[in-house]
Amino acid sequence: MPVDTHTKILATIGPASASKEQIAKLIDAGCDAFRINFSHGTYQEHKARIKIIRRLEKEKGRLISILADLQGPKLRVGDFKDNEVLLQEGQKFRLDMDSRPGDETRVCLPHKEIFEALKQGEELLVNDGYIVLRVEKCSKTFAETTVKVGGRISSHKGVNLPNTKLNISAITKKDKEDLKFALQNDVDWIGLSFVQKADDVRELKKLVDGRARVISKLEKPSAIADLENIIKESDGIMVARGDLGVECPIQVVPVLQKKIVKLCRLYARPVIIATQMLESMISNPTPTRAEVSDVATAVYDGADTVMLSAETAAGKYPVAAVKMMHSIVKQVEEDPLFFDLMSKSRNIPCEATEADAITFAASELAGVLKNVRAIVSYSSSGFTTFLTARERPSLPILALSPDIRVARQMVLVWGVKPCVNKESFKKFNHVEDCAVKYVKELGLAKSGDHIIITAGFPLNVKGRTNMLHTVYVS
Ligand code: PGA
Ligand code: MN
Repeated sequence: MPVDTHTKILATIGPASASKEQIAKLIDAGCDAFRINFSHGTYQEHKARIKIIRRLEKEKGRLISILADLQGPKLRVGDFKDNEVLLQEGQKFRLDMDSRPGDETRVCLPHKEIFEALKQGEELLVNDGYIVLRVEKCSKTFAETTVKVGGRISSHKGVNLPNTKLNISAITKKDKEDLKFALQNDVDWIGLSFVQKADDVRELKKLVDGRARVISKLEKPSAIADLENIIKESDGIMVARGDLGVECPIQVVPVLQKKIVKLCRLYARPVIIATQMLESMISNPTPTRAEVSDVATAVYDGADTVMLSAETAAGKYPVAAVKMMHSIVKQVEEDPLFFDLMSKSRNIPCEATEADAITFAASELAGVLKNVRAIVSYSSSGFTTFLTARERPSLPILALSPDIRVARQMVLVWGVKPCVNKESFKKFNHVEDCAVKYVKELGLAKSGDHIIITAGFPLNVKGRTNMLHTVYVS
């Protein structure tokens, strides 16, 4: 059964993957974590899916991470009379606050903040950017536009305004309710969509209050403008290429992907590459060469996790998509060039702490000592495990934490195999014995091997990794 790769796979659950049988198959195919998408589905559905995942976690004896993805301030048009109209290039089209169903001449855009901010000459993108509307005239309640690029537009399609700064809170009323539900239902990570500034992340973290870790989804040019602060404020990052590719020129997305992955690694934050990774597998049993290459590139870039969206949520071949993704990841990680790239791109921040130095040294030792089989990272908060993973060592990282929530969160982190340890330590040899017990149990090392341990001394004190130790497995 695959759990053998360093790069992790996150799959979105949806109608195509909601049954216990189907979720079990996704796990067996190589899926490490699941995304519950609050843009779709009911609480009843989400609850049932979370319950299934937690049951399978027990049955398969393997921790699984769950990401609750909040919709954020996603803007949408209202209803159309006949659900859909075709807009022609050059025609006029009006957006307003009138809730009556729309037609070829107008539709409701129920967001007064848009009209308050909109200026003549700006563009609105509808339906993933396929339709472009240019604002000719606007007021606080309507905008008259010319269709620059036409196409079909239907009820509730998304609207993007890449160049308009909107006075909208990053956390909507719906998000607050969804967050409450998610936290009551045992999720590990909360994703926030359309983050624009570090303050948005701070606001969410206040509400989450340590009950989960927070992922910022980067999909706005304004987020890119505040990139370092957002990364520092977040526990993890998602390169949300779907909306990012609408809000920014599409050719900028791969450049941003590389830049974001590099910065996340510097700040030791796990990073997920998302959207359209194996898009054609929504309807075909095999992907395109370009998609295979895209997944491989994300792995070579050093991403922690690669994500599937509609491929597993609504596609015809969810299990085949995970299998394919897993085989691409495995193939890249078997290439000697992969670890070469990982080790050449190691980087320590200027203001390094003791923990930065210890985790850096652990990875160096792993490269020098030939009979070492694993790095054991004791970390009650999990942050030292983030630092260990940043070094991208060629050995598995066994993360031990007494807190199951932390252990589950670590599933999304590159190269980490998490475990919950309930032992309390009075003497240092207890720390050694416990590490040896877990590496043997998990089959990471056997008698005669060595392992590396990082921990904090004095024992049982939070937040101070200051010790590096090699241990002979007897
Ligand atoms: P979404 O986020 O699937 O929730 O829109 C991912 C993206 O925009 O790429
Ligand atoms: Mn998005």
